[in-house]
Amino acid sequence: MPCRRASSGGQPVTAVAERRNIVIVGGSIAAVTAAQVLRAEGYAGELTMLSAEMQLPYSRVPLSKAVLAGSADQASCALPMSTDDVNVRLGQEVVGLDDQAHTIHVAEGGTIPFDGLIVASGARARRLSQPGQSGEYVVRDAADIPALAERLSTARTVAVVGAGFLGMEIASTCSKQGLDVTVIDRDPPLRRLLGAWLSALIVAEAESVGVRFVRAADGVRILGDGEVVGVGYGDTTLRPDVVISAVGDIPNTEWLSGSRLHTQGAVIIDQWCVAAPDVVAAGDVAAIRQPTGEVMRLPHWNNAVRQAQSAALSLLHGRDAPVATPDHYFWTEAFGMQIKVCGLIPNHEPPIILEHNDEKGSFLLQWVAADGGPIAAATVNRKMPVVKLRRLAAEVVATAS
Ligand SMILES: Cc1cc2nc3c(=O)[nH]c(=O)nc-3n(C[C@H](O)[C@H](O)[C@H](O)COP(=O)(O)OP(=O)(O)OC[C@H]3O[C@@H](n4cnc5c(N)ncnc54)[C@H](O)[C@@H]3O)c2cc1C
Repeated sequence: MPCRRASSGGQPVTAVAERRNIVIVGGSIAAVTAAQVLRAEGYAGELTMLSAEMQLPYSRVPLSKAVLAGSADQASCALPMSTDDVNVRLGQEVVGLDDQAHTIHVAEGGTIPFDGLIVASGARARRLSQPGQSGEYVVRDAADIPALAERLSTARTVAVVGAGFLGMEIASTCSKQGLDVTVIDRDPPLRRLLGAWLSALIVAEAESVGVRFVRAADGVRILGDGEVVGVGYGDTTLRPDVVISAVGDIPNTEWLSGSRLHTQGAVIIDQWCVAAPDVVAAGDVAAIRQPTGEVMRLPHWNNAVRQAQSAALSLLHGRDAPVATPDHYFWTEAFGMQIKVCGLIPNHEPPIILEHNDEKGSFLLQWVAADGGPIAAATVNRKMPVVKLRRLAAEVVATAS
């Protein structure tokens, strides 16, 4: 398990409370991981998972890639989980938490008691359109895909607003389908996550297949009364057939507003993922407060898994549970490049190229700090066990070959 065990002196950990009734709010990777860990750890009490979605837990990762491309169906995204020992209740939107009374409230009416709560309500896509405007597409939930895929099947031109990893994946998928794609962002594509060097590599690849990039220094406006008809930036307007936004996400915290949980955009948790007594949180909904006081939110798959493991164990074992150290590992696929990253890539510093194969378009890259110590590593189209990549990001600088 990729979590660090807090010191328990080598002794078996003991339960801080005899929990009998744990409720999980959310139905995605953080929720599923937490449920699995609870059962694997021997928790034998009631376990209820409440998800606002109508389908069993699935991975969002392929939605912008193979599912939008039509080369994988949604059934293939299902997350493996046993519904025998978890009471999974679909279509159940939770609308309130009374953390003192230890109850949650569901939209259809009714109160559900708990003695341990896992907040795993994730995030939703941020939209640029105003309430009442329709026709701005996003890729967040499985339910977003059918209408978008249908619309793309008859479209010729697409504007993707947002050039983060999600926007670039969507642009890549659309481009592969033969669509004329323009990507608009106020920042250079993927610069914040991947730094200038990798950003330039991907942009060059995208431009080579005809994708256009537009810098909108003052931001992007959605055009149209009622139905979205295009986007505007500066003095320019674009009227593509389809507008897809990938402009970030908003943690789903509204249902916690009447509680004593601290939310600053996201639910603030400590290193054990504790948000309040008997309440833990994990995944895209959560931001972890570091011992330094820094609050960090990492809305990536591995981080959701790591926090969910820690959150579940801390409900059972309190401070004897492992702390959730931030996991900066993530991957993305766009324009024929499979990219895996560990660590925080500096914005402007170029990497050391440890390996490069021109024919395969593969790279092994490492970034070092001013003192020569490694701070990040990445592969492009190169297979490497994640554990090795992690080592390159944080351990002795490997010799260039
Ligand atoms: C299209 C796409 C592609 C991605 N690709 C990658 C990738 O390549 N690599 C990577 O590292 N990461 C990727 N990610 C990010 C990764 O999928 C997320 O970090 C991960 O899904 C977070 O999981 P989560 O369980 O915290 O929350 P979410 O996946 O957001 O799930 C939250 C769940 O809570 C439910 N919920 C919300 N509010 C309520 C409520 N009030 N009551 C009941 N239920 C509620 C929702 O319906 C949902 O089931 C991608 C994300 C998207 C959208």
